[in-house]
Amino acid sequence: MDLVRLDGRVALVTGASRGIGWAVAEQLAAAGASVALNGIGDPAVLSDRAASLQRAYGVDAMPVVADVGDPTAVTAMHRAVAKRFGRLDILVSNAGILGDALIGMIPDAVVRETLRVNTEGALYNLQAAARLMRRSGGGAIVTVSSIVGRRGNPGQVVYAASKAALIGMTLSAAKELGPHGIRVNAVAPGVIETDMTGHLDAATRQSLLSGVPLGRAGGAGEVASAILFLVSDLASYVSGQVLGVDGAMVL
Ligand code: NAP
Repeated sequence: MDLVRLDGRVALVTGASRGIGWAVAEQLAAAGASVALNGIGDPAVLSDRAASLQRAYGVDAMPVVADVGDPTAVTAMHRAVAKRFGRLDILVSNAGILGDALIGMIPDAVVRETLRVNTEGALYNLQAAARLMRRSGGGAIVTVSSIVGRRGNPGQVVYAASKAALIGMTLSAAKELGPHGIRVNAVAPGVIETDMTGHLDAATRQSLLSGVPLGRAGGAGEVASAILFLVSDLASYVSGQVLGVDGAMVL
């Protein structure tokens, strides 16, 4: 028997078209959950992803294109999920962008867009999900922060601020929503092999990895497994935690 089963549960994963979000959607579906996959780019990609989960795991899966930084679009997305599945048990707030620039040279537009997508996006989804979860008596929410939100990194002051904010949001939400049976946790990935880190030049990559005691980058599936644990009943008494998935880079 599988250690983690999520049959009958409904999950929404933001930024599920690729990278960590796609790995999360796949693991949730493999565990039996119905999954709504969100992204902002090519709708055909999301539709193909949803269809492939249905074929591979026999679960219900729906694509939902929405900009997580747009509160109206997020409300509509949660309405569409509720209409299709009747409930929401799991939210993985994963969609995110980088906003790298050195202090003194950060365009205002980069400040606004990074905070809009990474921080406001998670807040809008938290609100909408909490409304649905309260109705059905509970749920589990995971935000995807970053080691950069805990330790900082030169050239990433805006990204760091956007990801540190998620930690404060997660801790407050865990306190406020706990009485409603809703657990809220964060993961803080380190260097993970996805499109987001694909642009790094060899020297930067080497210097980052030299700070990782496990000596390598992580895979998207390794972050997804930590998230699967947090949303499952294995973590039924775990809330308000920030779980590093970073090969001990945080130390
Ligand atoms: P990625 O491969 O670049 O994927 C980003 C995802 O976010 C895509 O699915 C993208 O959708 C979606 N997205 C971007 N803007 C959006 C918006 N406004 N509305 C809805 N969806 C949007 O990134 P990743 O590496 O998997 O990262 C996932 C999360 O982990 C991010 O929050 C990132 O900050 C965090 N993280 C990553 C690392 C790492 O090393 N990779 C480390 C720490 C934390 P489209 O494909 O439709 O554009």
